[in-house]
Amino acid sequence: MDNRAVAVGGIGLIILDNLCKTYGTGNNAVTVIDHVTLSVKKGEIFGIIGQSGAGKSTLLRCVNLLARPDSGTVTVGGVELTRLNTRELQTRRRKIGMVFQHFNLLATLTARDNVAFPLRLEGLPRNEIRRRADELLELVGMAGHADKYPSQLSGGQKQRVGIARALAARPDVLLCDEATSALDQETTRSVLALLKDINRQLGVTILLVTHEIEVVRSVCDRVAVMNRGRIVESGATPDLLLRPRHPATRELLRQTEDWEGEDLSGGGDGGTIVRVLYSGESADRPALSEAVRGTSVRFVILHGNVSRIRDVPYGRLTLRLTGPPGEKDAVIGRLREQGWEVETSDDV
Ligand code: ADP
Repeated sequence: MDNRAVAVGGIGLIILDNLCKTYGTGNNAVTVIDHVTLSVKKGEIFGIIGQSGAGKSTLLRCVNLLARPDSGTVTVGGVELTRLNTRELQTRRRKIGMVFQHFNLLATLTARDNVAFPLRLEGLPRNEIRRRADELLELVGMAGHADKYPSQLSGGQKQRVGIARALAARPDVLLCDEATSALDQETTRSVLALLKDINRQLGVTILLVTHEIEVVRSVCDRVAVMNRGRIVESGATPDLLLRPRHPATRELLRQTEDWEGEDLSGGGDGGTIVRVLYSGESADRPALSEAVRGTSVRFVILHGNVSRIRDVPYGRLTLRLTGPPGEKDAVIGRLREQGWEVETSDDV
């Protein structure tokens, strides 16, 4: 595993240590979680991304032991859940909220009663339950829909109710299992914005699993890539998405328009194809115009993407440079001096 920015095993709110899980036996045995070690810090939004079938949901369900690992330990808030008896575990689980892809609302209950459901289990007084449920519906932007049934709500609205219900018992941790995968793009954005607000306002630590890069890109502080039951790479989101190392990560990124995985050969007729990546502070500098100043080198931008991942600005450009070879080398040298990462067709 590539540990880069992740201090796995350090002090974490959620610590998964060497988890393994296999479904089936003998010839039918499938190892779904294969020696996974992961640490999620208090207050962060941590994403687990991977293709369908990678084992993400199972791993997430191991955090509250809805799925039991065959070996390894799960520790949340300093308590090793894998050692608790059923009753102790039930109490601890209340502090771990869960949000599902298909909302899992009870069809026969109103939005308010769905949110109130976990509070009833806690045996709170009636008026207290109603007050708290309405407060939560307000928090998720659903104050006007308290008396509606799930069938009267849109997908995004149902998920907001699902999130309110998950927050009812004032959890420290929210587990989100493909929470936006059943939603359209615009609704996805608004639900992600809500999760971000909840993380900031309430300080709830969020661990989410998704197959969508966009989800990771817009909300996750850190991310781990899961492939065939293993965490193959992890790190701070901008770092991992801009400099993917593992083939599984590259494959996930290739499915988004952001990733330009074309090879650099074919600069051929008089040009050198150059792929540059700049991020963070070096995104503020006019490095390209300074690099060609005083030379006869010209550049054409063939492809480009300039954006932000979380709060880190970056640009990834593919350029064709023309000019005398010595001058082109000098330009590339200057770009590198400015902190730009440069790959050229002459390197391949
Ligand atoms: P992901 O969330 O990445 O799509 P899952 O954790 O849902 O992956 O599933 C990983 C693998 O485990 C899949 O091959 C799936 O069929 C299998 N699996 C999941 N749950 C069970 C189960 N209860 N019994 C048998 N196999 C299961």
